[in-house]
This record gives sequence, C-alpha cells and structure tokens, in this order.
Amino acid sequence: DNKISNGCILWPDDPSQKIYRRSLHIRKVLEAAIENDTVEVYYQPIVDVSDGRPCMLEALARLRDNDGSFIPPDQFITIAEQSGLIYRLQQCILDKICIFCRDKLTALPQNPIDRVHVNLSVLECMQPDMADRILNTIERNGLPPKLFSLELTERMALVTPELMKHHMSVLTNRGVSFSLDDYGTGNANISYIIEYNFDTIKFDRSLMHAFFTNEKAHHIIGREFLIIKDLGLNVIAEGIETEEEMLTLKEHHIQFIQGYYYSRPIPPDECIAYLEKFS
Ligand code: C2E
Ligand code: CA
Ligand code: CA
Ligand code: CA
Repeated sequence: DNKISNGCILWPDDPSQKIYRRSLHIRKVLEAAIENDTVEVYYQPIVDVSDGRPCMLEALARLRDNDGSFIPPDQFITIAEQSGLIYRLQQCILDKICIFCRDKLTALPQNPIDRVHVNLSVLECMQPDMADRILNTIERNGLPPKLFSLELTERMALVTPELMKHHMSVLTNRGVSFSLDDYGTGNANISYIIEYNFDTIKFDRSLMHAFFTNEKAHHIIGREFLIIKDLGLNVIAEGIETEEEMLTLKEHHIQFIQGYYYSRPIPPDECIAYLEKFS
C-alpha cells in the first residue's frame, strides 16, 4: 500500500525514507535541546604519561533522544551543520564549557588541568566574527584564554586560508591555542602543519591502531612523532585502550595520551570527582 505524495511513490520501507525521517527527528530533538538548554557536555581527561596525572580535558557534546538514549555526536553535528543550527549549538556548548570551568574546574583547591580542548565546526570558522565571539564568551566568564585549545580538522580546507589565519592570529595573540584533530585521517594533513600555527597535533585512533599493529606504519608514525616534536609541537595520542599501548607510547617518549585506558568521556560532576583524586 504505497502512498502517492507530491506525485512521488513513497515506499514505506524505503531506506532513504527511514534516513530522512531519522534526520528530521534528530533535528527536532536538537532544536528543542538548544531551546531548553539541555545539550550536555562530557569531559575526557588527557593524561601526562610521565606522571600518570590528567593535565588536559577534551569537551565532547552529548544530546539525548526523548527516550534518554544518546544520539551519536557525529550524527547530530552533521545535522546541525546541514540545518544551520550549528551556530546556536556551538554557542550553547561553549557557554556550558565556560560555566563548568568557572564554577567547578577553577574552583578546585588544586586544579590539575591547564588546558581544555574544544571542538570547532568548520562552519563557525567561515564567520568573520568567530574569534571575537569566542573571546567574548571566555572573558565574560572571567576565564583566561590560555585555558583553551581549539580543535580543528582537515575540513578547515572549506575556509579560505586568509580568513582561517586571521582567526588564528587574533586568538593566539590572546593566548588561545590550536590543535590539529584527527591527524592521519585525511590526505593533506602535512600541509596543515606547515601552513598553520598549531601547537598540538592529535594523532587519530585509526593511525594509532596502525602504529600498534603494522610494522611499516610503526616505523613511519614513529618518525612522525620525532619530527613533530623537533618542530616544538605537542603530540596527543588518541584512542588508547590498553596498558600495553600506553607503555609502548611511553617508550617512544609520547607525553600526552587520551583514551578509554584512562577514562571514557564522563559527565561534569564525575569529572570533578575524578580530578579531586589528583589534587
Ligand atoms: P573527536 O573530536 O575525534 O573526539 C574523540 C572521539 O573518540 C569521541 O567520540 C570519544 O568518545 C572517542 N574516544 C576517546 N577515546 C577513545 C578510545 O579509547 N576508544 C574509542 N573507541 N573511542 C574513543 P564522540 O564523543 O562520540 O565524538 C565523536 C565526534 O563528534 C568527535 O570526534 C568530534 O568530531 C564530534 N564532536 C563532539 N563534540 C563536538 C562539539 O562540541 N563540536 C563539534 N563541532 N564536534 C563535536
Ligand atoms: Ca576532537
Ligand atoms: Ca580526534
Ligand atoms: Ca574523530
């Protein structure tokens, strides 16, 4: 019993219809969450392997469906970008992060965290007032800009290099730093290291997996670690899940590690409880 609508036959079990309905649904949930300020932010520690202490956090957005389950960030971020909700969403997320830093993190008697990583959407970077908006939000909450590192991916190629460099120089002059995220997943990554002022390179989980399991990859990536350190940049290894992986990286003098081995992304209160153990 196919329905005829706008002259099109809609197959009730057509997978493209399912995907379309799903994305409409996510868009509705997202819009309501922005409206009601119920978008959540979880935090994943980044650990200094030399002493085993957390020294940075990555903020990761979380959106709950009506039944309480989580909608994967990759899905709702994409839908936010396609629907234009991304600007309001990112502002919501940055507000939440700043309030957490102001009221919880910097209120710790001994805060071990000196940097909070925030994921940016490339669409934000296309906005001429992006740097001012971010600085305003940080300073409105009385936080030092040097507390923040902004994570960008190779999708930044969508922005003209002139505009991107303008944003980066305005922000770095005020103390905000930049990390190249998902290093090793694109094909033009080296050119970003050369062209832009990143102070940290985050090696993607897939690249780290190759490093641990493939001999050729092990040699190449091992050399990349050295080159990046020679350039005076930090390396963060992502997606580390076992003690063995951690120990291998320690042998290679990798200082910063992020992954389930230390902690999954956790809600703000749990994060503070975790950090209190290290104060
Ligand atoms: P990402 O920036 O590469 O974030 C790291 C992802 O890896 C997170 O997934 C994290 O939960 C996961 N992860 C961390 N350690 C491990 C591990 O040891 N093993 C495995 N298997 N996974 C690990 P998550 O939270 O699902 O986020 C997915 C992506 O969504 C992020 O990838 C980022 O691109 C995007 N995203 C998340 N929050 C935001 C946001 O506030 N703004 C924007 N624009 N994008 C965001
Ligand atoms: Ca990231
Ligand atoms: Ca990443
Ligand atoms: Ca990723």
